[in-house]
Amino acid sequence: MNATNDIIIIGGGIIGLAIAVDLKLRGASVTLCNRNFPQTASLAAAGMLAPNAEELPPGPMLDLCLKSRWLYPEWVRKLQDLTGLDLGYNPCGILAPVYQLPSETSKNTSTGQWLDKTAIRLYQPELGDDIVGGWWYPEDGQVDNRQVVQALRQAAQSLGVNLRDGVNIQTIQQKQGKITSLLTSEGELEGQTYVIASGSWASQILPLPLRPIKGQMLAVRMPQQPEGLFPLQRILYGPQTYLVPRRNGRLIIGATSEDVGWTPHNTPQGIQTLIERAKRLYPAIANWPIEEFWWGYRPGTPDELPILGQYGCDNLILATGHYRNGILLAPVTASLINDLIINQKADPLLDGFKGDRFYTQPISTPIPLKMTTFNNYAVPQAINGNNLDLSPTDELVIAGRKFHSRLMTGTGKYPSIPIMQESVAISGCQIVTVAVRRVQTLAPGHEGLAQALDWGKIWMLPNTAGCQTAEEAIRVARLGREMAKLLGQEDNNFVKLEVIPDAKYLLPDPIGTLEAAEQLVKEGFAVLPYINADPLLAKRLEGVGCATVMPLGSPIGSGQGIRNAANIAIIIEEAKIPVVVDAGIGTPSEASQAMEMGADAVLINSAIALAKNPVLMAKAMGMATEAGRIAYLGGRIPVKNYAIASSPLTGTIV
Ligand SMILES: Cc1cc2nc3c(=O)[nH]c(=O)nc-3n(C[C@H](O)[C@H](O)[C@H](O)COP(=O)(O)OP(=O)(O)OC[C@H]3O[C@@H](n4cnc5c(N)ncnc54)[C@H](O)[C@@H]3O)c2cc1C
Repeated sequence: MNATNDIIIIGGGIIGLAIAVDLKLRGASVTLCNRNFPQTASLAAAGMLAPNAEELPPGPMLDLCLKSRWLYPEWVRKLQDLTGLDLGYNPCGILAPVYQLPSETSKNTSTGQWLDKTAIRLYQPELGDDIVGGWWYPEDGQVDNRQVVQALRQAAQSLGVNLRDGVNIQTIQQKQGKITSLLTSEGELEGQTYVIASGSWASQILPLPLRPIKGQMLAVRMPQQPEGLFPLQRILYGPQTYLVPRRNGRLIIGATSEDVGWTPHNTPQGIQTLIERAKRLYPAIANWPIEEFWWGYRPGTPDELPILGQYGCDNLILATGHYRNGILLAPVTASLINDLIINQKADPLLDGFKGDRFYTQPISTPIPLKMTTFNNYAVPQAINGNNLDLSPTDELVIAGRKFHSRLMTGTGKYPSIPIMQESVAISGCQIVTVAVRRVQTLAPGHEGLAQALDWGKIWMLPNTAGCQTAEEAIRVARLGREMAKLLGQEDNNFVKLEVIPDAKYLLPDPIGTLEAAEQLVKEGFAVLPYINADPLLAKRLEGVGCATVMPLGSPIGSGQGIRNAANIAIIIEEAKIPVVVDAGIGTPSEASQAMEMGADAVLINSAIALAKNPVLMAKAMGMATEAGRIAYLGGRIPVKNYAIASSPLTGTIV
């Protein structure tokens, strides 16, 4: 599979399919790759078109949703014409009952029409006794999302979209600001323009702060009344629960909202909660037969807004993160994204949804780094005629890149970002390691981290912390490379490889590390593996092409110093690549010890970040690293068992 396609779309949920069909109607050649159709959130949704009932505040998101709701009737008509399928579009309006009376102010500001206890029961008889009134949103409605997805797939097929089911996009490859190809489960795939519409899973391809928000649902069957009608005709959008009646008598009850990662399945707790809440809203459902349970992942972003538009590279477009409104937003997303692709016209509406908003709004201004390089001493090239074969400034060279400082630091565990910035600056370090997963998910303490340093001056060393298997580490390494590019380091292919299945001692898995290293080297990474101080493993890693080895001194963050000096000494003696002592160093004297032993560099994070005064400790660590290096170059005296007087004994006057 190596053909060149005009436009390649990754993801075959409602968003990818809507874009594909619209592009095809505009005359483009389109390939759509979809890994796993049944897992798509688009099949799990309730299909509400509810910008008003959702009470979205005025702003770009409300504008986007209203525009999409406005586009819906025509969009549905077009799809119905193309496929002959009924999409269940029903502008039935939404009733939003409440259990507590709202304030007078909200009655004046809401877009809904207030109905009191009696009036709301005229709209919908047999509501729960606790309901004291509610809002009426006549312009909201629903669509049968499963039918929409079915129709989109059918339309895509009949229009000639190259639909590739079961194809998993593993990584994107880029060069000089352009995506050049995709690595897929079926080989390499090349195109002109690439659209990422892979919902919650987009964060597995690019470093985006997307996370799955699980929603559980169930459906019951409404009994038909004598005159052929079903008891519910309009959506009931109650507090924390909604009931969505389809015209065919199916009633959708949703939905939980659970931040539980990729934990699958329905749970008794989730379903029980839904049923209890639904009965409070509309007691009669208690005896209606259950038809189905299911669940899905909403693609959530930290600000709950979608990510739309061009991103990083000229030919990379994102259409993801639609969270709880992806069904509603499909028509407008397809229209705006395709105007951008075909006409190179960026609608101002897209401005509020750029993907780089997570990386370009620093929580504090980066401190311009005062690069405190201590090692500007000149190393003599020859002493007493012996050529020492040293470069004048004694540089650390990793994968062909030169560094003056031999101290590497990290960004985690600092009391605040300004303290981290100042510590990094004063330490003089030029390489800072960053946990890709934590930055990507904006984990507590990591918000804004990526922007807090001046990556024009500091070389980023993305690390795979948090990965327990080789497979995970490979995926996160690829994300790290994209993250570095995004932050301006176009040619950064470094990765600090950590494969750590053991949560107690945080010891690395040697086999997983070797497997991942082999694969990453093949993919062109400069791999810096974190390992136990095992000389044979170090040699194997050197053999597969790693750029360094990084043996630990003692367990991460333990501050126990160098507990395995003998093994580290063997690694240093045998290695032809730089040896970086990583983890365990607690004091500057231990940093110095590692350097005196002949290590090429040290990586120190906890001992600085968790010190009483991190800035002072950072300075001390920088100086100690340098002192240790100079001492190593100076050459220590041999250890002897007996004393030798400091003053010469020969030639003394008696
Ligand atoms: C319980 C629930 C209720 C909801 N209710 C509503 C509602 O009432 N109204 C509304 O507007 N929205 C609702 N939503 C939200 C809506 O379903 C989503 O926003 C929308 O479906 C997202 O569509 P998508 O195409 O971006 O992602 P998805 O539908 O998840 O599709 C993504 C596809 O990409 C594929 N993919 C992922 N990674 C790769 C890869 N590497 N290579 C190839 N393919 C890949 C996946 O297999 C998947 O098929 C609800 C969601 C849930 C879970």
